[in-house]
Amino acid sequence: METIELTNRQEHIVEIVKQNGPITGEQIAERLSLTRATLRPDLAILTMAGYLDARPRVGYFYTGKTGTELLGEKVKNITVRHYQSRPIVVQESSSVYDAICTMFLEDVGTLFVTDKQTTLVGVLSRKDLLRASLGKQALESIPVSIIMTRMPNITVCKEDDLIIEVAKKLINKQIDGLPIVQDVDYGSGYEVIGRITKTNITSLLVDLANEETI
Ligand code: ADP
Repeated sequence: METIELTNRQEHIVEIVKQNGPITGEQIAERLSLTRATLRPDLAILTMAGYLDARPRVGYFYTGKTGTELLGEKVKNITVRHYQSRPIVVQESSSVYDAICTMFLEDVGTLFVTDKQTTLVGVLSRKDLLRASLGKQALESIPVSIIMTRMPNITVCKEDDLIIEVAKKLINKQIDGLPIVQDVDYGSGYEVIGRITKTNITSLLVDLANEETI
């Protein structure tokens, strides 16, 4: 479903259907003094975009939805799978120093920490690393496992989760991103398969504003 800016003629059609629906294509055309063929693309667009509904042998009727409602419906159908980034991962035995280097090299704000079996065990944010840097100890000698936020206190999501649910979690937990996980084949725990952050959600906003098909 697309959210679109309507042309004057399309607005007019919506108005006619709102007042007179159900109404056939011919009847709409008559009111506008146009041919049915001329209107066909407009009616197709309005139906696809969800403004109008068409029933065979009945005609067109207004769905009663505003552009904002349609936009809301569209957002509520977008899953994590559509907007995700590559996860950047460090081992739990890595030092804080190495984690800081990785954060700079990969240009990310959140790192995920895994054990040797690649199971998710922790999360490291910029502030976690800054806090550790305030101490007197050499950063090469502190393993990230000491300073990370650890399981089971990690908020995660799955590829089929709705983006809007992720956005709510980011706001409620006051965090920048979530690991996208799947259950591991062996034993218990999660494998990290992606990352979703405030940046991904910002690109979604831009796409919606540009009316791109998602
Ligand atoms: P920063 O602290 O750099 O502003 P965040 O707001 O993302 O970054 O992180 C705040 C705290 O929440 C940090 O201690 C971090 O380890 C933790 N954190 C970050 N992401 C998650 C997550 N998905 N689940 C649980 N805790 C997280």
